[in-house]
Amino acid sequence: MHQKSNYLLLTPGPLSTAQSVREAMLQDWCTWDDDYNIGIVQNIRARLVALATKNEEAYTSVLMQGSGTYAIEAALTGMAPKNSKLLILSNGVYGDRMAEIARYAGLNHAVLAFEQTETPSVTETERFLQQHADVTRLAFVHCETTSGILNPLAELCAVAKKYGKTVIVDAMSSFGGIPFDMEEHGIDFMVSSANKCIEGVPGFGFIIARCDLMALCKGNSTSLSLDMYSQWETMEKQPGKWRYTSPTHTVRAFKQALDELDAEGGIDARYERYKQNRQMLCEGMKNLGYKALIADELQSPIISSFEYPSENFPFRDFYSHLKQSGFVIYPGKISKKETFRIGTIGQVFPEDIRRLLEVIALYRYQNIK
Ligand SMILES: *Cc1c(COP(=O)(O)O)cnc(C)c1O
Repeated sequence: MHQKSNYLLLTPGPLSTAQSVREAMLQDWCTWDDDYNIGIVQNIRARLVALATKNEEAYTSVLMQGSGTYAIEAALTGMAPKNSKLLILSNGVYGDRMAEIARYAGLNHAVLAFEQTETPSVTETERFLQQHADVTRLAFVHCETTSGILNPLAELCAVAKKYGKTVIVDAMSSFGGIPFDMEEHGIDFMVSSANKCIEGVPGFGFIIARCDLMALCKGNSTSLSLDMYSQWETMEKQPGKWRYTSPTHTVRAFKQALDELDAEGGIDARYERYKQNRQMLCEGMKNLGYKALIADELQSPIISSFEYPSENFPFRDFYSHLKQSGFVIYPGKISKKETFRIGTIGQVFPEDIRRLLEVIALYRYQNIK
């Protein structure tokens, strides 16, 4: 049974997935049985840690039901010490969302906001940490999917470590697609989800954290269902057990997605493919007269923003034209400029980008006529 895809998703997620990943969902699982808890959940937890760092002993992982935001909220609201000050850096919607979570939860926090087309300033961050000794934690987004900009992970982690701060990274749209080692950078908590660069289907997020810091988090959460520590403790004590109904089919599909990642050659190989996609897209778009929003040296291989080529650019019409040809793109999310976005992650290959560029070239031709 081969189900042909309706269209290729060139979006920030959920993404186009492999046939094998979707097929892995065609079975039902008992959440009490070892086949599921040990064979699938524990397997996934260990493999996530191994993908995140070479020092597997020092790190642990916990899976949380819901989309990525739920896992971010679980991490931010579940950390210790409970009411110590959190500094959030923001240069886009996802940084702003962390601030919103902090506001909703009444967390003691501060926000340093930057332009959406620029990376957070390391110097300003350092100055803030120098002037506010009460800050104990620093949170920021690795790849800001709002624009596609890649924030300076190593530099921001280094400055946080210099002042002894705990580091929380939203690596939702980069983990699995861009190589980095949590321990090398000194990342203490990292959050991502099933349906981004690991190329699973949506339904859960996960937190990878230093074991010693996770162990301090008991009793901090103000939310029952999002209690990161309780979920982790349950998964540890009754190996692989989720506290409440887990998204079994999604979890099984995720295990398949991890197998596919291994078969591709791991994160390094996937990073190369995404980079190729992105490079081909950006060169092609430039040749067709579309200007990239983000400077080349700051651009991630995950998703790219392009400015409208003219003020009255008919985006909806452009979108429909691409959709008819089998490609779905994404509207922009930048507040100061009209843009649209094209993702280069998921089961997307240079050959797909070549075909996409042909379709876009045709649209341009039709529009000029
Ligand atoms: C996708 C994404 C999220 C989570 O979004 P959900 O819609 O809750 O899955 C968070 N941060 C970043 C950077 C993302 O790309």
